[in-house]
Amino acid sequence: MSADRSLYLGVDVGGTKILAVVATAEGEILGRKKLRVAREGSLGDQIAAAVSEVLAKAGTTVGEVAGMGLAVPAVVDSRAGLVVHAPNLSNADAHLRDQLAERFPVPIFLGNDVNLGTLAEVWRGAGRGVANVVGIFVGTGVGGGVVLGGRLLAGSEDQAGEIGHMVVSVDGPRCGCGNAGCFEALASRTAIERELREGLAAGRTSSLREAAETGRVGSGMLAEALGAGDELTTEIMTRVGHYLGQGVVSLRHIVDPDMVILGGGVMEACGDFLMPLIEAEVRGDHLRRSRDVLRLALSELGDDAVALGAAALAHAETSGQPFRPTQTEEGGCPAEADPAPTYPHLDSVSFGAAVVNGKELATDLYIRAGGKLKARKKKLARGRYGTSHVLGPEELAKVIKGGPSLLIIGAGFQEMVRLTEDAEAFLRAQGVRWELLPTPEAAEAFNAAEGPKALFMHVTC
Ligand SMILES: [Zn+2]
Repeated sequence: MSADRSLYLGVDVGGTKILAVVATAEGEILGRKKLRVAREGSLGDQIAAAVSEVLAKAGTTVGEVAGMGLAVPAVVDSRAGLVVHAPNLSNADAHLRDQLAERFPVPIFLGNDVNLGTLAEVWRGAGRGVANVVGIFVGTGVGGGVVLGGRLLAGSEDQAGEIGHMVVSVDGPRCGCGNAGCFEALASRTAIERELREGLAAGRTSSLREAAETGRVGSGMLAEALGAGDELTTEIMTRVGHYLGQGVVSLRHIVDPDMVILGGGVMEACGDFLMPLIEAEVRGDHLRRSRDVLRLALSELGDDAVALGAAALAHAETSGQPFRPTQTEEGGCPAEADPAPTYPHLDSVSFGAAVVNGKELATDLYIRAGGKLKARKKKLARGRYGTSHVLGPEELAKVIKGGPSLLIIGAGFQEMVRLTEDAEAFLRAQGVRWELLPTPEAAEAFNAAEGPKALFMHVTC
């Protein structure tokens, strides 16, 4: 495969800031430039300034750039290159793309910001190498995107993936869009703030009273109130977890994705609290219990996601190819070159030893998603927890390298091994399901499981 040396510009045009990046065809960011949006003056001029600066920072020129993507928090007509409706961009011009095309002689493509954030997660984030992904971003509003077979779902009017306006509570609270009971009207930070105010008006107390009354409850404040055990906040956020979980269940039935990625300010700050609730709702889905392979993951790209997604759009459009993730975790190797791994077979296990592919091993071991068998270094757990019977996130990070969807843990003959709370949170955040079983059952379960899978097995103390 010949290396594509083209560069791509991606610009995240937000209500308060512009982030421009220069990225390679593999999605590596070579330069970033962030500017605050000034309310006066043309938005096109400000974007052009950010683009010129980021090109200089990356040590390149527009002549080296194969395409530019513009991500806007708006309804767009990407074929006509028009911003159709942008309630959160006060000085947006419908012809933003053409204004920039006058200054930069490269193909320019326009897209919706959260749609592109989802595409970026598939390119370089939590969804690397995953074909079918739904992204849900929970912040001031709720946005999302759907990537099928590596391609962003556009729909006939370019408005697919408006997950925030899926009705999850018929005749529920009024949404900013005018409809009632939208996902956004129940699960966004704006909805949380409204519920706090309603609770306070009904005589409840909360450490977030002042923030709720002045109208700016930040995601970090929610996380703090949860950490401090604030009762009203905990109650509201538990409901939010319920709504998000039910939203994921509905989306799963419609889209049948391999993975759902959750991101945005609220998820980033309160993911530890919300993910287990969402996970529980999804696992409790009666319709699909027998085929329970959906992976849930937290987004990994944070502030870069949307700008990188805009670069991904430019890459996909200029290469004329359905977008495909080409980068593995180690970097450099195209994913399509990896053959399906052959997993070692657990022939038998007895107290103190396991026989793997005909070979006896008298040690704890693990097998990674890529099929690699490794001997466990027990001193990692002993040094940290004083016993080899505790599995923490550091050790699990080694075991789940390569991204299994299922981790089978052989807990020993006496089932002594347990996971720390952070280890469980870590696995959830990585979208890895796990099963803790007595070691002999774990060996059988691993042999029988469909990949991508990993095994950790406690054989001897
Ligand atoms: Zn709505």
